[in-house]
Amino acid sequence: MDSRYSRQVRFAPLGEEGQRRIRAARVAIVGCGALGTVQAEALARAGLGTLRLIDRDFVEWSNLQRQFLFDEADAAEALPKAVAAARRLAKVNSEVAVEPMVADLTPANAAELLEDIDLILDGTDNFETRYLINDFAVRGNIPWIYGAAVGSYGLKLAIVPGRTACFRCVYPDPPRGVQPTCETAGVLGPVTATIAALQAADALRILAAGRDSFTARLTTVDVWSGEIRQLDPPARDPDCGCCAHRDFVHLDGARRAPISLCGRNAVQIHERARPIDLGSLARQLSALAPVRANEFALRVTLDLYELTVFPDGRAIIKGTTDVGLARSLYARYVGA
Ligand SMILES: [Zn+2]
Repeated sequence: MDSRYSRQVRFAPLGEEGQRRIRAARVAIVGCGALGTVQAEALARAGLGTLRLIDRDFVEWSNLQRQFLFDEADAAEALPKAVAAARRLAKVNSEVAVEPMVADLTPANAAELLEDIDLILDGTDNFETRYLINDFAVRGNIPWIYGAAVGSYGLKLAIVPGRTACFRCVYPDPPRGVQPTCETAGVLGPVTATIAALQAADALRILAAGRDSFTARLTTVDVWSGEIRQLDPPARDPDCGCCAHRDFVHLDGARRAPISLCGRNAVQIHERARPIDLGSLARQLSALAPVRANEFALRVTLDLYELTVFPDGRAIIKGTTDVGLARSLYARYVGA
């Protein structure tokens, strides 16, 4: 009888030895959205050993258009994405140890959330988190695969410390000015799926065949025009603050200010790390408006704003991009 992984084992460059390495590997996916869910399913089906899913968000109806692991029940329950993805992956391949982490990756928790990880996949939607991943990966000599998409366009680049340019060699500073986001420019499911599949392929190759033979090309894809380009590997910057001078500024800040979320008219508050009893908060707020709560999150709509509060004290306030207003709503309804 053909084994579960026979088709990829028969692919000679991977083979039995490559499969053993994949089985022994531990991968973290940061951001379990359009990119992360496709990466996660690809690696789970390939027989990865351990898959850690890090995501701070919950499933919404507007995710279902492109986020492959989620269904309508997940959106109706507003399940955390990491939890919903882990439930689905347990049915896809029960041999994989899936570790859902409902958390926002920050300088304060990066060492804990990315402990003992062999490779990191980028499923995020913002430069801030990518700089943090890059600092952590370069410091710890861990390969990671950058990927991004908006509209019909996307790109991916593998970063192998000591061998390729790092993210800060390529992008010393975040892009200036207003950038298109998934909210303003939209995004097509096929482009995120394509970029995520290319990222997963790089991950399998690095895990199975080793990082020393790896060539990092920058791949760009436009699924609407049909243009696909392979650019030469970006050069390492001999004066790079990160990989040359090893100045890991993005890991140093222990706290971050609240940030506006990509793709939504919302602000996340995550500067207050303190446990919150969602049951008693629900009782308190139910005098003002209908409250929906489960063990993972509480949601209430107050006037023009929708508050979602998590047990770790984090909150997402929808209906505004004004950080000051979001802070004051948090203070008013959740407590300072
Ligand atoms: Zn660098």
